Amino acid sequence: MNFVELIERKRDGGTLIPEEIRWIIESYTADKIPDYQMSALVMAVFIRGLDDDELAAWTAAMLHSGAVLDLSDLGAPAVDKHSTGGVGDKVSIPLAPMVAACGVAIPMISGRGLGHTGGTLDKLETIPGFRTALDAEEFKHRLYRHGLVLAGQSESIAPADRRIYALRDATGTVPSIPLIASSIMSKKVAEGIEALVLDVKVGRGGFNRTVATARTLAKTMVGIGSGYGVTTVAFLTDMSQPLGREVGNACEIEESIAVLRGDGPPDLVEVVFLLGAEMLVLGGIADNAASARERLAETLESGAALEKFIEVVEAQGGDPSVVEDTSLLARAPGEHVITARESGTVARCDALDIGVSAMRLGAGRETKESPIHPGVGITVEAKVGDRVGTGDPLVRLRYDDDSRLAEVIALAERAFIIQEEPAEPPPLLHEVVR
Ligand code: URA
Repeated sequence: MNFVELIERKRDGGTLIPEEIRWIIESYTADKIPDYQMSALVMAVFIRGLDDDELAAWTAAMLHSGAVLDLSDLGAPAVDKHSTGGVGDKVSIPLAPMVAACGVAIPMISGRGLGHTGGTLDKLETIPGFRTALDAEEFKHRLYRHGLVLAGQSESIAPADRRIYALRDATGTVPSIPLIASSIMSKKVAEGIEALVLDVKVGRGGFNRTVATARTLAKTMVGIGSGYGVTTVAFLTDMSQPLGREVGNACEIEESIAVLRGDGPPDLVEVVFLLGAEMLVLGGIADNAASARERLAETLESGAALEKFIEVVEAQGGDPSVVEDTSLLARAPGEHVITARESGTVARCDALDIGVSAMRLGAGRETKESPIHPGVGITVEAKVGDRVGTGDPLVRLRYDDDSRLAEVIALAERAFIIQEEPAEPPPLLHEVVR
């Protein structure tokens, strides 16, 4: 096949047949197609979209680029959760040990930061020693032993997603319904799970600005899940402002530990309970959301969730003493506080401006190869609906390189609008798609 001809066809609005799509994904994964040609094709897909047959073929090719796990002898329900990505979205990190402590097995394959959004893998890797690159054998072993494994796409599980995901991050091709849906569902189906809870973020901080596009993405993924026999439920949750208070990598681990200690910020805790409860119901561990929430609360009160987190950190080579002493996590030395210029109510705390600010400080990548700076980040001190007085802190920027600080300050200041009238915080949950 001629790759240039396939790029041109997609560019001009034509369709690719399943054999061509399989060949594209296989060849790129085997390093037989250079990044520049794949980037051009992915941009053509971004602009032209994929029809239903193309999407099914693209997802299947990504899924079969690596192993598809068989968990039939696991002896516990296997359920996972995945987010379409947001700012301050560390939900998976406290949620997974809470749900696993209730008896649901979670084979979680996560991603790295994408665009201005953070990634679970980058956050977990700020725990000294923590390994997220596991082959299929070790992945399964950890899951069977601990009921929870937290890993990334590897050479053996969803390798095509690992490569295409990194390429999209550096080529402005992230916010595309078929590319997001195939990326998420290929790695989730590869895990061998029976059910999946999706957190589809809505608002400027995610990749869906409106409930309508989020609903379309949710329905697309629920449809792919059901085609593979994976019961999939999607929650459309708010991403107009950051979730929780911390945005970055190490600082989000610290905030996740606070949740596990029963001391997390209310919006973050609510999303954890909302999604966690659905996982328990789908896994048959609880009859309804109310009893599931009680079970989850018990894992915090008894310390079982925190113990599960420590067990998994240790099992994957991480230093569990970070839980007792979070000062072992990286923290950038510089701090700049942006304060309110007038008193009033916060009417806007824009997740996109804050996410891009964190990325520019070094929390995200600008090219495929850029390293992330684990200790930089932003603490959000005031959110929509909060009253502030003149001079009160709005955000704290932690930085290790001041060459970009002026640009970031201007961007982070732009995130806020303060008004005299009261303002209502946005609803956390917009809709559920089953
Ligand atoms: N999360 C993923 O795993 N893939 C995407 O494309 C977006 C969010």
